[in-house]
Amino acid sequence: MTKETVWNLENSYAELPDKFFSIIDTNPVESPKLVVLNESVAISLGLKVDLLRQEDALEVFAGNMLPKGGSSLAQAYAGHQFGYFNMLGDGRALMVGEHITPEGKRFDIQLKGSGRTPYSRGGDGRAALGPMLREYIISEAMHALGVPTTRSLAVVTTGESIMRETALPGAIMTRVASSHLRVGTFEFASKWGTLDELRALADYSLKRHYPEVKFDGNQYLNLLKKVIEQQAYLISKWQLVGFIHGVMNTDNMTISGETIDYGPCAFMDKYDPLTVFSSIDREGRYAYANQPRIAGWNLARFAETLLPLLDDEQEKAVELAQEVLYGFSDLYHANYFRGMRSKLGLYNEEKEDQSLIEELLSLMAHHKADYTNTFRSLTLGNKDCSDLFEAEDFKTWLQKWEERKTRQPKSKEETLQLMRNNNPSIIPRNHRVEEAIQAAENGDYSVLKRLHHVLSMPYDYLPEQEEYTQLPPEKEGPYRTFCGT
Ligand code: AMP
Ligand code: MG
Ligand code: MG
Repeated sequence: MTKETVWNLENSYAELPDKFFSIIDTNPVESPKLVVLNESVAISLGLKVDLLRQEDALEVFAGNMLPKGGSSLAQAYAGHQFGYFNMLGDGRALMVGEHITPEGKRFDIQLKGSGRTPYSRGGDGRAALGPMLREYIISEAMHALGVPTTRSLAVVTTGESIMRETALPGAIMTRVASSHLRVGTFEFASKWGTLDELRALADYSLKRHYPEVKFDGNQYLNLLKKVIEQQAYLISKWQLVGFIHGVMNTDNMTISGETIDYGPCAFMDKYDPLTVFSSIDREGRYAYANQPRIAGWNLARFAETLLPLLDDEQEKAVELAQEVLYGFSDLYHANYFRGMRSKLGLYNEEKEDQSLIEELLSLMAHHKADYTNTFRSLTLGNKDCSDLFEAEDFKTWLQKWEERKTRQPKSKEETLQLMRNNNPSIIPRNHRVEEAIQAAENGDYSVLKRLHHVLSMPYDYLPEQEEYTQLPPEKEGPYRTFCGT
């Protein structure tokens, strides 16, 4: 294999002012081994799967060797973490470059867990196998669910142990993203860059993600509008599938509108708006129901960074930004309720739909019904095993919903089809993800492979998915996730 036949790399990010990155040395690992290769991502990038299984590709996935045309770069960024501003940057990631697909699309190829960088602070720059597999499986499930997200091309084990509470097997994940530009990248530019440097970043972001925006004097306001639109869409998608990100710091919010950073995330089982999984989120800042509000807060931080570009007069700039920011909530709600109506098979819109939806949710909360399975049962027309379907108040709601469905010029089949397209029969449930990771840690990747397979078709309602719809066994205490491993 020649390296040239695999990657088609450019480095447009490296043309930004030097401040935005550091060129770093590679941190070779002892004995890398390819444990997961995502063939569908490879194919979508126009990469040849058989070549990616060869030695040279492994050396690239391990960060031991740079492919032709590649770079070795860590990005600088800042961010508000749980509300507090910090200087951050890629502390354990290496940007190999931007791969250009045969269709001309540009994707960052980034190694996560690739060793120390100038932004590592006290960290070792490494990642453990479990969390890398977790990101692999959940990000791919999100993609299949139709949620914009970064994707995972490969996971390699490094042959080295990393020290956490115990010694854990080290791993590196190859992440594919339409870019790694973050709200935090703008916060970095705003705090430590010149006005020209900030403008360079904004121009670069526009060109890369929103090329349709005209450079007509208002382009930075349009950048703000576009990011707000994309995030309003993204967060509505999270809410609709019951996804809890867990660490919605501004450095984990992309300019592209893709979900990024799968550290402490998890899917909600029983419907409870206050659900929090992350062990470090003690105050529930990033609880399920708070996600839209936090997104708005993060976008306000983004807008602040753009102020000097919006108008020479600060007052005017604030006014412009505020008007656009106020739109976020309406955009979000419109997306969310459109999605919810689809989940209930409703094509048209009635004024009372919102209360019909909210009533259902409050019944689900009251009866501790599983979020995904309730909509799945409504779709299949069967009774979920939860108490909800036996409750009188729920039967009254069902009646209302049946009547509502008759007030649209659609056949039963069409209604059902809309529901099937919007209610996944399967999500990556925490206990199944844990089970797959544990098996993998013991050398058996078949459980993970099968889970990945069934999760890749969440709207197909296949018999083989049935067993994955089961809830975790009741155990003491809530499920907890951890980040930084
Ligand atoms: P996160 O909470 O995953 O968004 O990460 C916050 C910051 O911590 C980012 O700048 C990461 O690059 C950095 N970081 C996380 N884990 C490590 C690690 N093991 N070594 C060095 N930096 C890390
Ligand atoms: Mg992060
Ligand atoms: Mg993380």
